[in-house]
Amino acid sequence: MKNLEVLIQTQKERITLLENEIIQFEKDQYELNKQNELKSDFVSIVSHELRTPLAIIKEGIELMLTGVYGKINVKQKKTLSTVCDSIDRLARMINNLLDVSKIEAGKMDLHKEKISLRELFDKACAPFYIKAQEKGIRLIIRYPKNDTMLYVDVDKIIQVFTNILGNAMKFTPTEGVVKVAYRILAADNNFIQIAIADNGIGIPFDDLQRIFNKFEQVHHTAFKASERGTGLGLSIAEGIIKIHRGTMWVESKEGQGSTFNFTLPKYIPETVVRDEINHEIKSIDINTTTMSILSLSIEEVDHVKAQLPRGEFQTIVEEIKGVVRNTVRKFRDVSIDEGEEFLMVLRDCNRSGAEAVKTRLESSLQNYLAHCKIPLHIKFNVGHASYPEDAHDEENLLKLARMRDSSSV
Ligand code: ADP
Repeated sequence: MKNLEVLIQTQKERITLLENEIIQFEKDQYELNKQNELKSDFVSIVSHELRTPLAIIKEGIELMLTGVYGKINVKQKKTLSTVCDSIDRLARMINNLLDVSKIEAGKMDLHKEKISLRELFDKACAPFYIKAQEKGIRLIIRYPKNDTMLYVDVDKIIQVFTNILGNAMKFTPTEGVVKVAYRILAADNNFIQIAIADNGIGIPFDDLQRIFNKFEQVHHTAFKASERGTGLGLSIAEGIIKIHRGTMWVESKEGQGSTFNFTLPKYIPETVVRDEINHEIKSIDINTTTMSILSLSIEEVDHVKAQLPRGEFQTIVEEIKGVVRNTVRKFRDVSIDEGEEFLMVLRDCNRSGAEAVKTRLESSLQNYLAHCKIPLHIKFNVGHASYPEDAHDEENLLKLARMRDSSSV
């Protein structure tokens, strides 16, 4: 008995010790996060403050260069042009620093949209045709035969292409080749792979791992100051790809060339809906606000579609949309597949609010069915779920809204 008591006491002490360690770890983590946030806030504020005076300096010098303040001689022109180049480089550096600090602080917001791979290639690569021509490099872009739709922040992904293509142009000599291609991934249906390959100077094996680190430059000694980069381009590119949940990697052989690969998310309606709901969750304050999602769908939608004459289904969908708009005030439409499901985000609306909206909507739909001339019996499913009352993440909110209290009209 005594032994058992001693054993229990030792276990208790162990648990207390572990608990203390966990508390200390959480405190350290909190401090570390706070420090990182302060650091990135500092970089962000300083960078913003630097941008305005820099723009004013550049404008002044450009005006002088045009000769509006009087004729300038060749020597003056050369000096002012050099100053202008340095200002551009500094501005690039500041913008890059801002991007890095945003990525590190998790504050880089994405504005994702649906875009075809073909259009993305056009937007991202077109500016490089002239550059390639000027340098005598062949730029080959392999366009997809069957176009794939992607769901990305277009501007940010163009920035990724720009950073990698810019490097490929810089590190590939005249008569070299730069290729942009894509690959469908058999093992992962959610992503597509992009490869940007050059047959330039390549990267030594030992340096391959560090080129994605901040401020790492392998070949900087070979370039004039005005041509030198900031060593931040790849780190930003990798950061942007990671916040799209993709990956980036490089294959290279010194003297033979490099291939930069990255994956981009395909447009998948369910993922998009989840993303939208996640975004809403992140943007509300858990202490003061709530949010609900409401799902409305037509029961056995495929059967309904098949029974109706051509075009009729779309008319009904539009009419239902009208009913929804007249009944539900202030909602954000996050529906993706036309007519399959109507998904709405109701901001500042808790569970009882959502319940009331649902009842109102059901009665409006009943009214609509009673008065419309559809030659078919249609049934609706309406469900809702609230954050944070019912669930804390988009997966469970959606699951609940699609089944919980689902009632048929
Ligand atoms: P930088 O602004 O210097 O280009 P990056 O982060 O974009 O910074 O690239 C880091 C370094 O990686 C470059 O300085 C260069 O040494 C190496 N590098 C990047 N792309 C290539 C390439 N296509 N070929 C050879 N080296 C490259």
